[in-house]
Amino acid sequence: MKKLIAGNWKMNGSLAANEALLTALAAGLGKIPSCEIAVCVPACYLPQVQALKLTHSALGAVEVGAQDISAHASGAYTGEVSADMLKDLGCRYVIVGHSERRQYHAETDALVADKAKSALAAGITPIVCVGETLDEREAGRTEEVVKRQLAAVIHANGHCISEVVVAYEPVWAIGTGKTASPEEAQAVHAVLRAQLKAATDQSARIKILYGGSMNAANAATLLAQPDIDGGLIGGAALKPQDFLKIIAAVPV
Ligand code: PEP
Repeated sequence: MKKLIAGNWKMNGSLAANEALLTALAAGLGKIPSCEIAVCVPACYLPQVQALKLTHSALGAVEVGAQDISAHASGAYTGEVSADMLKDLGCRYVIVGHSERRQYHAETDALVADKAKSALAAGITPIVCVGETLDEREAGRTEEVVKRQLAAVIHANGHCISEVVVAYEPVWAIGTGKTASPEEAQAVHAVLRAQLKAATDQSARIKILYGGSMNAANAATLLAQPDIDGGLIGGAALKPQDFLKIIAAVPV
């Protein structure tokens, strides 16, 4: 399967900065990349990013995603953005259950599972984030935590689970400059792979991304692991040259 390199811009950007970033990305992409690429941008900038895709043909290879979605279809949910709205704006992906949403917005496993369900119902691929905190890792609970988080999504989505992308993002590695070693990441990916295999006979098509301080220097060894099918990139996705280097590090 082709690997996926997805940028998570988080709450960063402006009309000017997004244009500069995507113009630099387009200039560097050149030939057809050997992996799939996506940028998950703040919802308000989705139309701008779609418009920029039309002006830079090299961005044709770049899919667009959002960073969150409502679990509700429509109605009195002030501030929320529905799956159909994201679909309207041409979203191919949406991140659900990012640790920042679990931490700062008290998102539970059940809510994350419902958000994944809303995305799938609209034909949007959810990038479902799972990952343990430092305390949980030090207490030897990594496996239990990521399996519990993924189990909720499997339970709510039945056979549709084969349509999701999973991202293993150890919370202690996000935005900290601390990366899981390739061996540590691979060990958790293997656990997730086995869980997905037990849930569906279509598990071979499910990508499991690694996220957490992936950068131009460490991407190649992480991406060479057998169960790492790509990366979810935060900080380095805001620097076009670094993002391009990660894309170039994908083994062919
Ligand atoms: C993320 O926010 O999903 C992430 C992986 O961030 P960073 O690469 O900055 O650690």
